Amino acid sequence: MTLGPRPSVGAGPAPSIRRNTMSDAFRISLQDLRRQEGARIDLVRTIESPDFATDLVRTVGDLNIEGSLQSVSEGVLVTARVDYDQVSECARCLREIEEEGTADLAELYFYENRAKALKESGDEEAEELPLIVNDSIDLEFLVRDTIVGQMPFIPLCEPDCPGLCSVCGERLAELPEDHFHETEEEPRAPSMSFVRSSWRRNRRNEPLEGAPEGQPSGADRP
Ligand SMILES: [Zn+2]
Ligand SMILES: [Zn+2]
Repeated sequence: MTLGPRPSVGAGPAPSIRRNTMSDAFRISLQDLRRQEGARIDLVRTIESPDFATDLVRTVGDLNIEGSLQSVSEGVLVTARVDYDQVSECARCLREIEEEGTADLAELYFYENRAKALKESGDEEAEELPLIVNDSIDLEFLVRDTIVGQMPFIPLCEPDCPGLCSVCGERLAELPEDHFHETEEEPRAPSMSFVRSSWRRNRRNEPLEGAPEGQPSGADRP
């Protein structure tokens, strides 16, 4: 996207008295946008450390929003891209995952009288529409909702992360493929593959009428 000569929307101190509860960081003034359909200005804004998070994933550092604001008949259309960084912990191996994220924003903020007219015409969703208030819009809910909405429910460092060894707690991905523990270290609940391989080993070694005594495996304990 090429940016016009106008630097950013709402940059610098807002001249008017603020009596709203919007978070200033996300508040975008529309005073430079002409209210003529098709008129358009750039939207460039850096939000310092908003710390959006779910239980397992959180953003770190600043968000960068870049896009445009466009006048349409019902209000102002916001289209923008948000770039951010997020960290999480792999649900299987607990490794910290740092990644870059991108979210696309597209939202129509309505003039209050337009939203009111929709409500009066029986549109039940008009109650929920984002509004232009005091010649400005608040991007916080839109940005938060979009970013949190695309955070993973179960973060994984790799789609097939094998997790941790149930005995020693080391990362299986970093251990040799034949990583194995002797029976003294047998976990309280041995995995099925462990039980099966012990059983196979015993069968191979056992004499036909065999007494299993003296076998090294723990699978033949009384
Ligand atoms: Zn992992
Ligand atoms: Zn191990």
